[in-house]
Amino acid sequence: MDDPAIPAFACATLTLIAGALTAFGLRRERMSGWRGWVAAIALVALGCGIAAASPDAVGAAVAGPLLLQWPLLALLAMRRFHARHRWPLSAGIDLIVLALTGTGAVAGPLAGGSGGAWLTAASSLAAHLYAVALLFMGPGGRAATPLQALAAAIALAGFGPGLAGLPTPADLPLRACAATLGAVVLAFVVLTLATERTERRLRDSQQRLRTLANLDALTQIPNRRRFTELAQRALRSTEVGGGGRHTAAMVLLIDIDHFKQINDHLGHAAGDRALRLVASSMIEHLRGADLAGRHGGDEFVLLLRCAGTDEAVGIADRIVGAIQSRCAEHQLPRLGLSFGLAHVEGAADLDAALQRADQALYEAKRQGRGCAVAEIGGGESAASFSASRPLGLTAC
Ligand code: GH3
Ligand code: MG
Repeated sequence: MDDPAIPAFACATLTLIAGALTAFGLRRERMSGWRGWVAAIALVALGCGIAAASPDAVGAAVAGPLLLQWPLLALLAMRRFHARHRWPLSAGIDLIVLALTGTGAVAGPLAGGSGGAWLTAASSLAAHLYAVALLFMGPGGRAATPLQALAAAIALAGFGPGLAGLPTPADLPLRACAATLGAVVLAFVVLTLATERTERRLRDSQQRLRTLANLDALTQIPNRRRFTELAQRALRSTEVGGGGRHTAAMVLLIDIDHFKQINDHLGHAAGDRALRLVASSMIEHLRGADLAGRHGGDEFVLLLRCAGTDEAVGIADRIVGAIQSRCAEHQLPRLGLSFGLAHVEGAADLDAALQRADQALYEAKRQGRGCAVAEIGGGESAASFSASRPLGLTAC
């Protein structure tokens, strides 16, 4: 060995990197592939250590294969980390290539002579080429950039010493430098992947939390809070000149008639089926700009934009008809629904309009259920209502 200081320095650097990766892995959640990454770097560190401690032909013969084979180990770890991605070749082929090229790298120095040296060099090149090709063909998307950096590192670490060919004492420092460079990039790739995965999980759980906060769990339509938010936004967007004029819109409060009886006689599960049926039928009959939500219990709410009373009653009638025609297939008795309708003048009027619709709904219930009643002005104390309009197959 010409200069054992270089492998010694490489050994120390790589041991530090392997230690840092282990500490990082222990501090965070353990990831599949982590052991493989640490082992790949530890392997190189061991090779450098042997080269430094035994700077002769025997040391070179042992250190050479260790320095040559780490990229495939790193690749195996990468495979485990990206297990859910599609790779072009089966993971079993990795093991075969690892075994063949490993045998060649070990057999070369044992055989000795220029034939043995070329066997080692060819094994190294084959392993590196396989790893690089697979990484470039491997998973795309966000994972691709660090993986391609790893592929570049493998190429750097492998081609120079691989082409130079021989694991002689003279070229071990060069191999040690190239392997160190590759290992540093590997550590960078591993940490980037780990951070990306943590960020992705954080984004996924934020998305899940948002969904939980906004959607009604049973019917999968917006809950009351989300509906109000969306309706305010929609109404604001149609207001002209900061709240002056706006296109007509109506809010509809909908309540299932005698819903308690379904729960009492057929069970809570049947009640849940009925709620889901109402929600899905409502959604099917909405036009593009309309909104639906679960107001709570067996009450639902609709915002129909660009609609007057007649059009709103028409939509209500179609919804009730659709629900009633599908009750049997959901093992439910024919459902009746009552509707309370009110005009809404704009975003600032939404809460008041919902109260007016609630009064109209109360009136619809009072008049016998299964019908729609619209609030037509008069204020809170003396509200007046339209005549009730029967809906679906159930008449008032
Ligand atoms: P009315 O015709 O006057 O509306 O009578 P009703 O029996 O429908 O009475 P009401 O609207 O007050 O009944 C609401 C019932 O809805 C009470 C509650 O037990 C039931 N309920 C509320 N949430 C759920 C739910 O998520 N699933 C089921 N199965 N039942 C629910
Ligand atoms: Mg009810």
